[in-house]
Amino acid sequence: MKRRKFLKKSSIGTAGVFSTPLIASCQETSKDSSLLNDDTKITRPIVVCTWNFHNATAKAWEILSSGGNALDAIEQGVMIEEADTKNQTVGVGGRPDRDGNVTLDACIMDKDSNCGAVLCMQNISHPISVARKVMEETPHVMLAGKGAEQFAYEQGFEKTNLLTEQSKKEWLDWKKTSKYETIINIENHDTIGMLAIDENGDIAGGCTTSGMGYKYAGRVGDSPIIGAGLFVDNEIGGATATGVGEEVVRTVGSFLIVELMRQGKTPQEACEEGVKRIMQKNKGRKDFQIGFLAINKKGETGGYCIHPGFSYSQYTKEGQINHPAESFIKA
Ligand code: ASP
Repeated sequence: MKRRKFLKKSSIGTAGVFSTPLIASCQETSKDSSLLNDDTKITRPIVVCTWNFHNATAKAWEILSSGGNALDAIEQGVMIEEADTKNQTVGVGGRPDRDGNVTLDACIMDKDSNCGAVLCMQNISHPISVARKVMEETPHVMLAGKGAEQFAYEQGFEKTNLLTEQSKKEWLDWKKTSKYETIINIENHDTIGMLAIDENGDIAGGCTTSGMGYKYAGRVGDSPIIGAGLFVDNEIGGATATGVGEEVVRTVGSFLIVELMRQGKTPQEACEEGVKRIMQKNKGRKDFQIGFLAINKKGETGGYCIHPGFSYSQYTKEGQINHPAESFIKA
């Protein structure tokens, strides 16, 4: 029996016990064979994203299906939502903070574990592209606030007003009571997190958001935090999150899910475990939503959430499909 087949068989039902040898096997194997049986069905290229952002997965698919790489597919895919003024949770048109300023968060991660992020950045419509520039053009991973904005101008990005009339009107209405509360599954929870595997089998991911509507000035959630809102390990897979970022940060959600896949869990099982960890720390609390999405090296996918309503969009050679995710709390 080949060594990796043995490891795979040994791991069934004993993932935790065998986590060390599995990690060792990952380091030894080539990118195409880590944790995979020889007879495993591999789906690629493939792109998935949180919620039903089918225009974004369609754009990413255009790139992947013509031989493009996963990183380009991610950037251009999520840019569709960043540019959509009707989407009030990402990019231009995003809901402002409680002072009326739209501040954007985004991060991106590639097959070599390079990553870049911008936090709380104003006046720039494509934070994902600035995050990519941080990754490629600086020695840093994260730039925040004025520094991120300044860097964007230096890189040739234009100053843009991100506050649309619609978002301004709603913010002015909100100001009448200024009540901050989490509203489950209405449109202020629709961060786009995207994961893709290209024809070469390389994985990349990105996550971009305007964050929680009417948040405190300066608030940053999980979305631009590598390990929380997004994590990619080219040997294993990737994960991304949407929902109340504070809770995702507390469990380093996306990193946790990738590590659970490393130990042998399927993407579905790993997402379920991720949500359960959060619920264990929030016993009895039901007033918030989180959705996790994951993909493994084979192109298997999974999603899980706290409340019904979360779904993810997927594009492969079979076409486009929206998967409603199972939830911890049933309807
Ligand atoms: N995760 C995002 C944040 O906490 C919000 C969301 O997904 O809606 O900023």
